[in-house]
Amino acid sequence: MSRHHNFIIAIDGFSSCGKSTLAKALAKKLKFAFIDSGAMYRAVTLYFIRHSIALDDQEAIDNALKEIHIDFIPNATKTEIHLNDEDISEEIRQMYISDKVSEVSAIKAVRVAMVAQQQKLGSRRNIIMDGRDIGTTVFPDADLKIFMTADPKVRAARRYLELTEKGEDVTLEEVVENLASRDHIDSTRAESPLRQAEDAIVLDNSNLTPEQQLHFVEEEYLKVKALKIQA
Ligand code: C5P
Repeated sequence: MSRHHNFIIAIDGFSSCGKSTLAKALAKKLKFAFIDSGAMYRAVTLYFIRHSIALDDQEAIDNALKEIHIDFIPNATKTEIHLNDEDISEEIRQMYISDKVSEVSAIKAVRVAMVAQQQKLGSRRNIIMDGRDIGTTVFPDADLKIFMTADPKVRAARRYLELTEKGEDVTLEEVVENLASRDHIDSTRAESPLRQAEDAIVLDNSNLTPEQQLHFVEEEYLKVKALKIQA
């Protein structure tokens, strides 16, 4: 049983499995804070691109990480992500960030810095965090761990729709290629690779509606909550 008093839900899985969509809906329902850890790695990637930080220049990386301040600012409709006080919520969803983010996320110093911030964010409140290593590295004693997966074709189609609806000029092939490449880098990197925690519950959402997914996780939450109260 976990040692912390707050309730932590970790949602991990492959790219474009709908982790954030589910996490957001669940956070709203349970009135938990939601932290999208992928957005933090995307923010670092944006900073590195803007400041032309070479990914093999350790000193430049260490200095850059000291200059990067990431905040999650809730407003009436959504939570904005700010990089040094600038709202970068939309910018970090673009394809040029997706193309680079997994390389940046594989750098040890980047992970050490982000994991420390994520642990701080989840230290005192009830939280849902989604990512790749939340149940394994960030919160290994999370109360509930979900590992999401879905058919790669379904994932690519969903992401393609999302991007083209926003007006981004991409082809389905580019999206398929980006997802495959990110999954590969994320699963094979040396530093906290994407893998399913032993105690995670698998949720394959290839054929599930958002409502069905929410219902599934809510049921699991209620089971764990009952146990936590008894402990
Ligand atoms: O979740 P999202 O697809 O926005 O994440 C972007 C990238 O950030 C992932 O492909 C992965 O390389 C990296 N990431 C990570 N660890 C996390 C969350 C995201 O390495 N906890």
